[in-house]
Amino acid sequence: MKFNKKLENISTYEAGKPIELVVREFGIEAKDIVKLASNENPKGCSPKVQKAVVDIVANMALYPDDSMTKLKSGLSKRFEVGDENIIIGSGSDQVIEFLMHAKADSNSKILINSVTFAMYEIYAKHVGAEIIRTASQEHDLDEFYALYKSENPDIIFLCTPNNPTGDAIDTATMMKFLEKIDSDTLVVVDGAYMEYAAFKQKSKEVTPKELIERFDNVIYLGTFSKAYGLGGMRTGYGISSASIIKELYKLRPPFNITTLSLEAASVALEDAEFVKESLELNFSEMKRYISFANKQNIDIIESYTNFVTLCFNDSHNSTNISDALLRKGMIVRNLSGYGMNAIRVTVGKPEQNSRFFALIEELL
Ligand SMILES: *Cc1c(COP(=O)(O)O)cnc(C)c1O
Repeated sequence: MKFNKKLENISTYEAGKPIELVVREFGIEAKDIVKLASNENPKGCSPKVQKAVVDIVANMALYPDDSMTKLKSGLSKRFEVGDENIIIGSGSDQVIEFLMHAKADSNSKILINSVTFAMYEIYAKHVGAEIIRTASQEHDLDEFYALYKSENPDIIFLCTPNNPTGDAIDTATMMKFLEKIDSDTLVVVDGAYMEYAAFKQKSKEVTPKELIERFDNVIYLGTFSKAYGLGGMRTGYGISSASIIKELYKLRPPFNITTLSLEAASVALEDAEFVKESLELNFSEMKRYISFANKQNIDIIESYTNFVTLCFNDSHNSTNISDALLRKGMIVRNLSGYGMNAIRVTVGKPEQNSRFFALIEELL
């Protein structure tokens, strides 16, 4: 059968290996497997969310509230923006899909960082758009600007903090960059890990309110999958000018967020204490990764997220290391596909991190 030609060079997104597959492939019991591969919150989610979801689970016959009033008002209160500035997606992934279809087609160019979130390229290919990448590994906004000038992209993605490297753009520098971009170029600021960056260093914090007050052509993306511990609920959001949100709404399927997800995200937003505890645990455990890496002479990229990127020298190979870890029931993310001899490890619970250190010590 012949399919849409645009799909020919898309490789399927490889999600972090699910625990169930490791059980099957290696015969390791699920309880002995540690998954530090997808930047999920090791604390789970707020107990208040668990209770709220259980309370409504008996009532699943009705379609979800498609106006998403409760979650939207929670988000508009939190970010001090209007309801008309918000779109909610099945993960912020879905918002990326919407904006790609809204702005790009097969004549478009999309400018992204050399190493960044894989879904930008996959969604760009859905519409047949051409991907332009920077050469530098960290977001170099001078290079972004030069490529913007020479290539005239329709969309620019800035992922801050960046996945899979964990570094973050300086907000003041980003604002100056945005001032130089014309109003017909859509700039996406993907803040999937912004809660972590804002907690660690104020100069890296981007607030959607300021972004949309100053720029009509910028969309901010956030998610409940990371700091809020709701990866399984698939809920994310975009915040932008009302005119952009209105276009994205044309592409939104009805009922794209389930009743359970809407409730979970709404309640999660209110539990600031849970998020704070998660952030504190993350950065205190991250210190252990830094001293471990220093002791082992492994390069570690300074991270503003809930993961660390460990870069090996020529005497070690990240593919061999991640395969060996997998056989021991430890799932991490190999970054060889990004052209890096590195692994990305989600900062887990203290005992999970200790296990990681012990296994790496054994391997090196
Ligand atoms: C996790 C992640 C997302 C989106 O996750 P969803 O679960 O789809 O909300 C978006 N961007 C980056 C950089 C991420 O790491």
